[in-house]
Amino acid sequence: MNKTIKKILSGLALVLCATSVLSEKAGNEPDFAVIKVSEGIYMLLSGGGNVGLSIGEDGVVMIDDSMPPFLDKLTRTIKSISDKPIDFLINTHLHRDHTENNESFSQRGIRIVAHENLRTSMLTKGLKLYDKEGPMPKAALPVITFSHAISFHLNGEHARVFHVKNAHTDGDAIIHFQNSNVVHAGDTFFNGLFPYIDLANGGNIEGYIAAQQKIIDLSDDQTKIIPGHGPLGNKKKLQAARDMLIDSKNIISTLIKNGQSEEQVVKANPLNKYHENWNWGFITTEKMTRQVYKSLTE
Ligand SMILES: [Zn+2]
Repeated sequence: MNKTIKKILSGLALVLCATSVLSEKAGNEPDFAVIKVSEGIYMLLSGGGNVGLSIGEDGVVMIDDSMPPFLDKLTRTIKSISDKPIDFLINTHLHRDHTENNESFSQRGIRIVAHENLRTSMLTKGLKLYDKEGPMPKAALPVITFSHAISFHLNGEHARVFHVKNAHTDGDAIIHFQNSNVVHAGDTFFNGLFPYIDLANGGNIEGYIAAQQKIIDLSDDQTKIIPGHGPLGNKKKLQAARDMLIDSKNIISTLIKNGQSEEQVVKANPLNKYHENWNWGFITTEKMTRQVYKSLTE
């Protein structure tokens, strides 16, 4: 991956840890980059996770909503593409860099759609998900949930939103725009970056690999794949991510079978060969090693 992009992404990871600092800086930055993925489908580099948009004669469907420091810029950027109001907002999963503007968008009358486990987590874990105290405001919750899949028939599209079990979290949704041959993978795909597998919220390396395989199986060489983080991807890029993950799992699994502790594995640095191309600020090679070890042992 381009070193400049990697630097930017590392910066974004720091943002996740230091939202208040970012909120002061956000006002001076230019509005977000808009990537036209296909006719009527856009990807926005939102300052949080990558936002997706389906825009057409029937209205606007938005996928993920970034974080409060970026809300004004996000709204301006969307307005620059379409004057139409947003009708639906799909959350790909519960993390704050994809959902923390839920309340603001819902107060504008936008209906939030998500997997049922995401709603349950928001109700049971509340604002702890955002490192804050107290219950999640009602307005931030999805009002339409699904267990396996739900389809949107808008803008000449058949957009199938489907759940993959225990991958990045336990409430992941992937959106497949079947007519346009575009997929929004949420955080089941970090393009060119070590992925984050959120074990505490139901993520698992086996499920993560299975989710990626599912997207690969429905893709062809022309499919455009919007990752949760990183630049616009395709089948080849996703295959590279899956191959790296399978290999990392096999390497660490062998060390576990040989009786090595987490600390011994970290010291041996068995993923060193992936360091140059996949390490980044949020998921370093050490963090990647630890999360794979933990996912295989806990
Ligand atoms: Zn995430």
